[in-house]
Amino acid sequence: MNIAFVTSEGDPERLLPSLRKALPHDRFFTWPEIPRPDSIEVALVAQPPPGELAKLTALKLIQSMWMGVDGLLADTTLPRHVPIARMVDPGMVAAMGETLLAHVLDWHRHFYRYRAQQAAREWQMLPQYMACDRTVGLLGLGELGAACAARLVPLGFNVIGWSRRAKQLAGVECFHGDEGFAKVLERSGALACLLPLTAQTLGILNARHFARLPRGACVINVARGAHVVERDLLAALDSGHLAHAWLDVFETEPLPQEHPFWSHPGVTVTPHIAALTEPRTSFAVVLENIERVRSGDTPHHLVDALSGY
Ligand code: NAP
Repeated sequence: MNIAFVTSEGDPERLLPSLRKALPHDRFFTWPEIPRPDSIEVALVAQPPPGELAKLTALKLIQSMWMGVDGLLADTTLPRHVPIARMVDPGMVAAMGETLLAHVLDWHRHFYRYRAQQAAREWQMLPQYMACDRTVGLLGLGELGAACAARLVPLGFNVIGWSRRAKQLAGVECFHGDEGFAKVLERSGALACLLPLTAQTLGILNARHFARLPRGACVINVARGAHVVERDLLAALDSGHLAHAWLDVFETEPLPQEHPFWSHPGVTVTPHIAALTEPRTSFAVVLENIERVRSGDTPHHLVDALSGY
């Protein structure tokens, strides 16, 4: 089988040596060096240059190396008849659970405020809460949302979550639909976005929805930058309605040097590192799906192009 890495992001060499070793009879190519585009059956992609996948006329599978496929689906030349599988990588899921836990504990134990106090040489004890006094709202209860809930529930936090369809998750009060969204907003002391970016979720963290959060609430965005209306977030922080925002993803990445988020006291910036594809664990996922294509089985984690995730 001929397999090609078609990506302008990430380093194929992190995965290629182990794939070559595991599949000695297959041939691997790396864009732009693909001598016979019409012979490629599996394309491994992160952010493929627009138009390149359309040239691979024998494709049987587009395997994303990322969990989010919004960038991929935005390519209008994408061959729509080819199944797309997204990466559901145990190492990446674990990393997101750790990142979310770190941000929730930063909020719960007031460390973000103590950092600001240290900068001002201010010695002031803030009230201590127990985890059971605190409610964390998770927007999105998919692979990542569920994994984050599984980290928070054993610590005693009240975990509430929101999904498109009705859902049951151990220890989590689950909501869905517009009414459910309002309930999650009204109760969340910390609200974390773990939604895919779709036409329905674009700009979902906006002034109208911030206003429904309790005064002093915090926001964590580890999904996609375009979930946040940045100027609305700045206004909610400046007015004191929101206390802090942990932002890993941005409308424009890298975050431009002159962007107000860099120096805003209410914002913690990280450079899109909440969860990275982990070669040691994503390797097995890719291998399994290649074998499924070879044997004519349905690959795992196919994207529903209609719902956009
Ligand atoms: P997933 O398994 O597809 O889960 C998505 C969740 O969002 C599901 O619970 C889904 O509801 C819910 N949802 C989707 N549209 C909705 C809507 N309109 N209203 C309410 N709920 C909605 O996705 P995932 O693997 O958890 O990943 C989520 C996103 O995280 C990715 O798309 C990616 O953008 C982002 N991500 C970021 C990083 C980073 O480093 N910052 C790393 C990895 C991924 P249903 O359960 O009803 O379908």
